[in-house]
Amino acid sequence: MRRIAIIGAGQAGLHLAIGLVDAGYAVTLFSDRTPEAILNGKPMGLPMLFPDAWQLERDLGINFWDDEFPGCDRFRNQVCDPEGNVVLSVSSDLEQPWQAVDQRLKFFTWMHEFVNRGGELVIKAMTPQNLEEYVQKYDLVVVAVGRGSFSTLFEKDAQKTKHYQPKRHIAGGLYTGLNQGEAIDYRTFRVTNLPGIGEMMQAPFYAKDKLPVYAVAFEAYPGGVMDQFSQVKSGQELLEVSKKVIKQLRPCDYEIVKDMELVDDQAWVQGAITPIVRQPVGHLPSGAIVMGIGDAVILHDPLAAQGANNATKMAHLVKQRIIEHGNQRFDESWMQGVFDEFWNYAQYTHALTDSLLTPPDHMQELMAAMAQNPEVLKDYFNGMNHPPSLAAWFDAESSKKYLAEKTLVLK
Ligand SMILES: Cc1cc2nc3c(=O)[nH]c(=O)nc-3n(C[C@H](O)[C@H](O)[C@H](O)COP(=O)(O)OP(=O)(O)OC[C@H]3O[C@@H](n4cnc5c(N)ncnc54)[C@H](O)[C@@H]3O)c2cc1C
Repeated sequence: MRRIAIIGAGQAGLHLAIGLVDAGYAVTLFSDRTPEAILNGKPMGLPMLFPDAWQLERDLGINFWDDEFPGCDRFRNQVCDPEGNVVLSVSSDLEQPWQAVDQRLKFFTWMHEFVNRGGELVIKAMTPQNLEEYVQKYDLVVVAVGRGSFSTLFEKDAQKTKHYQPKRHIAGGLYTGLNQGEAIDYRTFRVTNLPGIGEMMQAPFYAKDKLPVYAVAFEAYPGGVMDQFSQVKSGQELLEVSKKVIKQLRPCDYEIVKDMELVDDQAWVQGAITPIVRQPVGHLPSGAIVMGIGDAVILHDPLAAQGANNATKMAHLVKQRIIEHGNQRFDESWMQGVFDEFWNYAQYTHALTDSLLTPPDHMQELMAAMAQNPEVLKDYFNGMNHPPSLAAWFDAESSKKYLAEKTLVLK
């Protein structure tokens, strides 16, 4: 039986670990935290999954929350001028729902599920140095530690990386007590864009204690008027600053958030991410190699909600390619080949994220078309799920042609 070691029990690592155990591999999953520490700690992110990635979870039988929390199926997006007046409004039902389940609950449950299905879970904070021991014992070592901790092992790919500093400062929490003036249904995902200032999101979310709540999150342009979260040191401080920012920048939304409370003390995140693409093969001093997946090698700003979707899809592809590789050696060209195949897809998740982080001029026309033409809006929803389908949106010339065709379709 082939032996695979996976470092990091997160979105990518757990998906791959459970998939490989099901396929008959001997899998050891190394986590720096126990399942209980993850459940009771702070979340690393607040991700929403789109239909294709969510389906991959269903295919593994790890979609344990669908009956309790079917996800959101309505989308509202408003673009405002600097005074907060709405200049453009998009509103639609989603054909296929999106779902956000607290990763603390997911990872806790999946770690136990992995062990129940026959995997070996080892609680150990790994370092690039102590990987040497494991490359000897396993046929393949996959590193899925998320952003940060193994950055020295995977060299930055200077050609694919476009950013040198964060484009947004990020903050978000999980809240009860939102007052939406209607029976609160946990079905509507709301986005407000304040060009040059930032974005505000309200997303239906299933919190770790199995409660439907809302994630209220901000993506602030560094140094702008929304950028008030950098000094936040606790969930309570985040709550207060969030209310203050909404009162200041979107007074009409203040009623919605004025009574909100954090669902638990730890349910908040704050920070900034520089989107980076890294080389997928990590070289250890001995010359042995390991393979990176997920955020460890392809890191997005969360604005276009692609990181966890990507991590899931990459884990799925890597699982398929491991199985197809049979008993052959997992050498550098195999690792690079699998990554390149995934990059054919992921280059578009990066392009989509960039087009929202730094909107080119033609993006305004696309947004206006979304508000007027349901076909364009449908393409946008499909594109969030599968960004290559939006290839025509990413440069001015092809987006012009695309819009001309859509206008003809509408006539
Ligand atoms: C505010 C915010 C909102 C987001 N919203 C979205 C969204 O809407 N949609 C979306 O798709 N994505 C979103 N993301 C991104 C998403 O959370 C990540 O892209 C995704 O979780 C990455 O998966 P991963 O497996 O690579 O890393 P992670 O899920 O971060 O998992 C890494 C795991 O490795 C473990 N680990 C770390 N170091 C070590 C070590 N040394 N030894 C052993 N284990 C270790 C960690 O404890 C963790 O459990 C968001 C992120 C943020 C911050």
